[in-house]
Amino acid sequence: MRLSRRRPSHLAPLSRRQILALGGTGAATLLLTRCAGMAGRPSRAAASPLNLPFSPIDRTLAEVAPAAFAGEEPEPAHSILWDREAFLASAPAAGEPEGVPLAIVGGGIAGLATAWLLRGHRPVVLERAPRFGGASRGESWRGIDYATGAAYFIRPEEGSPIAGFLDELDLSPRIKTEEDPVVLGGRRFNAFWEGTSTATGAAQIRRLARHFQAVLEDEEGQRFPDIPVRDPARRAHVDALDRRSFSDYLQEVAGGPLHPHAAAVIEHYCWSSLGASMAEVSAAAGLNFYASEFGEVCVLPGGNAAVAERLVDRLVTALPPGHLRPGCLVVDVQVGDEEVLVRYADAAGRLHTLAARAAVLACPKFVAGKILREVEGRRLAAIARLRYRAYLVANVLLAHGVRHDFYDLFLAGQGSAPYADVEAAAVRQGVTDVVLGTWARPQRDRTVLTLYRPLPFDGGRAAVFDEDSYSTFHSQFVAQLEREILPLVGARPADVVDLRLARWGHPLPVAEVGFIADRLPEVLGSPFRRRVFFAQQDTWALPAFETAVTEALLAGPRVTRVLAGG
Ligand SMILES: Cc1cc2nc3c(=O)[nH]c(=O)nc-3n(C[C@H](O)[C@H](O)[C@H](O)COP(=O)(O)OP(=O)(O)OC[C@H]3O[C@@H](n4cnc5c(N)ncnc54)[C@H](O)[C@@H]3O)c2cc1C
Repeated sequence: MRLSRRRPSHLAPLSRRQILALGGTGAATLLLTRCAGMAGRPSRAAASPLNLPFSPIDRTLAEVAPAAFAGEEPEPAHSILWDREAFLASAPAAGEPEGVPLAIVGGGIAGLATAWLLRGHRPVVLERAPRFGGASRGESWRGIDYATGAAYFIRPEEGSPIAGFLDELDLSPRIKTEEDPVVLGGRRFNAFWEGTSTATGAAQIRRLARHFQAVLEDEEGQRFPDIPVRDPARRAHVDALDRRSFSDYLQEVAGGPLHPHAAAVIEHYCWSSLGASMAEVSAAAGLNFYASEFGEVCVLPGGNAAVAERLVDRLVTALPPGHLRPGCLVVDVQVGDEEVLVRYADAAGRLHTLAARAAVLACPKFVAGKILREVEGRRLAAIARLRYRAYLVANVLLAHGVRHDFYDLFLAGQGSAPYADVEAAAVRQGVTDVVLGTWARPQRDRTVLTLYRPLPFDGGRAAVFDEDSYSTFHSQFVAQLEREILPLVGARPADVVDLRLARWGHPLPVAEVGFIADRLPEVLGSPFRRRVFFAQQDTWALPAFETAVTEALLAGPRVTRVLAGG
């Protein structure tokens, strides 16, 4: 799951002028990042979390958790939104409309970051799940916080808007500088990109590695494809890359067909990071992610849920009581001349109405298309182009320490890509990444392994929401764990205290060829009738922490202008 190693540093999209404007929202104090100088050191103890009942990290589970999925729960959202008018006609209303300056729909990283940046406007944040965080959530066991979704973000460049944003949150991640090991055909290679797995393919593998490094550094005539891209000078370059597939592009760089080891490693990476094959994703998205692999990443105990939790903790003190509302499913958004009416169902199914001066939809666009009234045809057409892929995560709790000689052990199968049938190959592969959940804060006597299993094909969602899915996937995880994973980390089945599953139905938008070049992000992200704004990773079909935060940073000033203008 090497998600998120794309480089946000070249937020060149944000010109100096824009950066200063963002500063006015409280977003970018533009101080040095906390990450500076932290290389390799374990994360220091964070300020104590407030442990709110709706925190992104669930610390209430017993030693052995109930045999049920964490993650995304499809009901009641599915039944309500698929027959919204029937629900609206029958649901009991709870009181008069409540006047608020700003409503934010969705409490994932994008929604929480937007709320933080616009906290001065006292937003109300509506999140359908009982806990905030979206795909950046986690759990805890014997004092170890671990991720059930997003694990890490990339180290932002000092002075960049994301660095400023993170600095305000005062987080102290551990920085990973080492290359992750790759397992091919059961053998572990610690320096795969030096060509250690094959004599015949070594030269090509090293050439590819040099290329990724050059792209990351903007050297040797290469340029990093920034996404989101707002700088016109970089736009043409990103568009050109976006018009071709990542696999075509890589073959050109390699000067012919990829060596099977390189193909297998990059293909598995695309499944785990982008939820799709390298033949499906654009070279812009693939390169944005993979070149970032050659940079540094920031890891917190609990993964990116720790960022979400810090945001929630800060917001709960910065906002008036009750402005963070979990268990609230937004079903209807109507825009008038002076206000936006946002109707939502609470956990008991009662309907409430917010009368807001502006709203930010920080939920996925397929939801926005269902809840927003009178959406323009071209926005609906752009939403229809978005596809989402499913994901499964297992956390393995071990009553034993393991050697902390990896962060992400990357399982690349037998090294025989490309795959004609991606679905069959991905099902055969199962888990692609074994992440050491205790890497940011090592423990001697206990370990959490976070296993990432992408479903990089259409139809995966039905499988994860199927009524037998828990027992089916649980036994598949156990089988792969015992056969392949425990031996790799030197642990035994007897060390396993619990294996906890999380499922995600729609978490990864597919970065398909042409999505950016066809200007769909502009259509999806443009404000609706001056009062409704959009901020979520899928505006750019790029599933990453940096996309979510950048979307919030860009939405902030736009919303402020409307609220200031009355
Ligand atoms: C298993 C997994 C691992 C990942 N690993 C990484 C990683 O290591 N690094 C990385 O950068 N990215 C990773 N990602 C990508 C991750 O999705 C992003 O990093 C980020 O969390 C997306 O944030 P978001 O706010 O844009 O979207 P989301 O997290 O999807 O948030 C949207 C929110 O809107 C809510 N919502 C939806 N509909 C409604 C409604 N009608 N009313 C109210 N609320 C609603 C949802 O419940 C959700 O909380 C991973 C994703 C998954 C699934």
